[in-house]
Amino acid sequence: MIRIDHLYKRFDEHEVLKGISLNIDKGTTAVIIGPSGSGKTTFLRCLNLLEIPDSGTIELGEDKLTFEDQKITEKIKTRFRKHSGMVFQSYHLFPHKTALENVMEGPVIVQGKPKEEARETGIKLLGKVGLGAHAHKYPHQLSGGQQQRVGIARAMAMGPEVLLFDEPTSALDPELVGDVLKVMKDLSEEGMTMVVVTHEMSFARDAADEVIFIDNGSIIEHGTPKEVFEHTKHERTKQFLNRLE
Ligand code: ATP
Repeated sequence: MIRIDHLYKRFDEHEVLKGISLNIDKGTTAVIIGPSGSGKTTFLRCLNLLEIPDSGTIELGEDKLTFEDQKITEKIKTRFRKHSGMVFQSYHLFPHKTALENVMEGPVIVQGKPKEEARETGIKLLGKVGLGAHAHKYPHQLSGGQQQRVGIARAMAMGPEVLLFDEPTSALDPELVGDVLKVMKDLSEEGMTMVVVTHEMSFARDAADEVIFIDNGSIIEHGTPKEVFEHTKHERTKQFLNRLE
C-alpha cells in the first residue's frame, strides 16, 4: 500500500532523513515516535509532497515517484496528494465557514462533487467524529478538540486511501486530547490505513499495529507495540522510552 525506499531529505547542510525504508500495508495503523527534531514530521510531510525528498522512492497505491529522476511538477503533486488526507497539529479551518461547510469544501471545490452529495457525506462524517449536533457551528464556537475532529472529517471527506496525522493532539488542552484519540482509535479499528506522528504513547500502545522509532533521521526500531515497548531491542529506543516515564 505504501512503500518507501531509501528516502533522503536535507535542508541545506542538515540531512534530516537518512535513507528511510518502510512498507505499510493496507489497513495498518503505523505510529511514528521519536525525539524532537528526529525527522518525524519531515518524513510525514514527504508522504504527501509538502516536502520533496532529495532521493529515494515513494509508492502509494498505484502511484510511484522516484525523486532523483523525476521533476515533481504541480501536476504530479496534485495527483499524488489525492491518495492521502493530512490532519495537522493546528487545524486551519476556514473561520467564516461552518463545520459542515469546512468538510464540504474539498469535495465541492477540488473534486467538483455536487453540493448535495458533499453535504450528505459531510453530515455522515461529522456524525462519525461525534459532531453531528455541531455541523452548523463556526470554528470559534467549537473547542480545540472539536475543531480537530472537524479536521479529521475534512481529511476523510476526500476519500483518501491513507490518513496522515502530524501530532494531531499536541496543540490541545489535556482534557480535550482523549476525544480526538478516541475518534482516531475508532478509525483504526475500522481498518483505515493511518500513519500517525505523535508523542501520545498511550495511543501508540493501544491503537498501533506497528510502532516505528525514528532517531536522527533513521528508523532505529520497528515492530508491534509489544515488541517495541516491552521487548525493546535497541539502546537508543530504551533511552527514549525511559525518558518519557
Ligand atoms: P518534533 O517532535 O519536535 O516535531 P520532528 O521529529 O517532527 O520533531 P522535524 O520537524 O521533522 O522533527 O524536524 C527535523 C529537523 O529538520 C529539525 O532540526 C528541524 O529544525 C529541521 N527542519 C524541518 N523543517 C525544516 C525546514 N523547512 N527548513 C529547515 N530545516 C527544517
